[in-house]
Amino acid sequence: MSCQGKVVIFSAPSGTGKSTIINRLLQELPDLEFSISATSRSPRGTERDGVEYYFLSEQEFKKRVENGEFLEWEEVYSGSCYGTLNSELRRIWTKGHVVVFDIDVQGALNIKNRLGAKALSVFIMPPSIEELRRRLVRRATDTAEAIEKRVAKAETEIGFQPYFDVTVVNDDLDTALAEIRKIVSDFLEK
Ligand code: 5GP
Repeated sequence: MSCQGKVVIFSAPSGTGKSTIINRLLQELPDLEFSISATSRSPRGTERDGVEYYFLSEQEFKKRVENGEFLEWEEVYSGSCYGTLNSELRRIWTKGHVVVFDIDVQGALNIKNRLGAKALSVFIMPPSIEELRRRLVRRATDTAEAIEKRVAKAETEIGFQPYFDVTVVNDDLDTALAEIRKIVSDFLEK
């Protein structure tokens, strides 16, 4: 098995079950380690520096961009930047682990472009837009307006699906997980 310098990137519209799949996969495949992003936004609730994110001031974030310390970064929300530090990749690779990203489509495609065959990009699809809307309604964390915004965003994100190495439809969680486990294991064997 060769884990040297490899990364696996997951992207999916919100409500697709991506976090559940990634968490289960991380428990099952000990060679995988989650990449902690840096952000210029402030911590929310119980978030801790170095756990959910590396929290940087706007000034510090900018300085690190100028020093070329990021593999990729984006202003995801106006005034809030998010990105992956090269030092985070080194931290994980040094342990002989494979880096796992949970990132938006644009960030995913940027990383894939940078790392080529060392990267596997996986797009997780909802069974349909209607089902995605039902799941977001069932989750009951958003207002009707916010749900429609997420659905519209999902439609845009699904447009990027052809640019990913593989696509897995999350209709049934266990089936999707088994499929992803096989795809990732094959990639680690290469
Ligand atoms: P949050 O809700 O945590 O403030 O924002 C999460 C958003 O930032 C999501 O859209 C997520 O995909 C994006 N994000 C998190 N980390 C990164 C990163 O390292 N690079 C990029 N480009 N986007 C990120």
